[in-house]
Amino acid sequence: MQDHPGALAELRGDCANCFGLCCVALPFSASADFAVDKAAGTPCRNLLDDHRCGIHARLRDTGFNGCTVYDCFGAGQKVSQVTFGGEDWRRGPADRARKMSDVFPVVRQLHELLWYLTEALSLPAARPLRADLRALVEATETLTLGTPEDLAALDVAAHRQRVNVLLLRTSELARAGVRGRGKNRRGADLMGARLRGADLRGADLRGAYLIAADLTGADLRGADLIGADLRDTDLTDADLTDAFFLTQPQVNAARGSAGTRLPGSVSRPARWAARG
Ligand code: SF4
Repeated sequence: MQDHPGALAELRGDCANCFGLCCVALPFSASADFAVDKAAGTPCRNLLDDHRCGIHARLRDTGFNGCTVYDCFGAGQKVSQVTFGGEDWRRGPADRARKMSDVFPVVRQLHELLWYLTEALSLPAARPLRADLRALVEATETLTLGTPEDLAALDVAAHRQRVNVLLLRTSELARAGVRGRGKNRRGADLMGARLRGADLRGADLRGAYLIAADLTGADLRGADLIGADLRDTDLTDADLTDAFFLTQPQVNAARGSAGTRLPGSVSRPARWAARG
């Protein structure tokens, strides 16, 4: 793993090298995000034999919004090609799909932690923590290379706690240098809040509930957005330059426009381009 943002590219889903694991392993319930119920370990009815989605171009129109915002952080290809050595669950022993389904969410969580740690390494303000960050990247990568049995038995919550301590220190350092540093809104209930044009520079928005909040034109430069719930959050023309610990699934779940400024670690959803 390298220290620069380019390394984040390795932590994105590569469906061509995955056996459709997110479409098998994960459960979902009929809701605004999914048209039907599906149990963990059961292939989705829309999954084709070649592991492509049979309704990929029509996901939103057919009630599968949840699939359009999901990203596995590269766990799908890791489990398919490394943990199970390229052995397809469709052609293996009857219990292989279940074993892969047990392991996939574990590796997904580890890869998400790798995403944050890798981004932390790229932040100039985190220079004093780089040795510790590198050590945790290495430890986390080693965990991802465990056997299926190792991974299924792993206490991910304990490892996440270890990582979180360092990410908190990284956040403090990164936000300390932001002019007009914002308030601590960690875990705040801001659902539906009217924050149009708000000055949230350098704010701590860790785990904040920003569902359907109006952040049109808000200034979020240098804000910590780890775990913030951005479902249907309106980021039209908002400035998220240098905001950190923001992931692609968060961005995918939000609304935005061609005028929304994003950090280089994430991509602009194609549907945003239509909104000027
Ligand atoms: S609808 Fe498509 S993308 Fe969603 S789980 Fe089913 S096969 Fe996968």
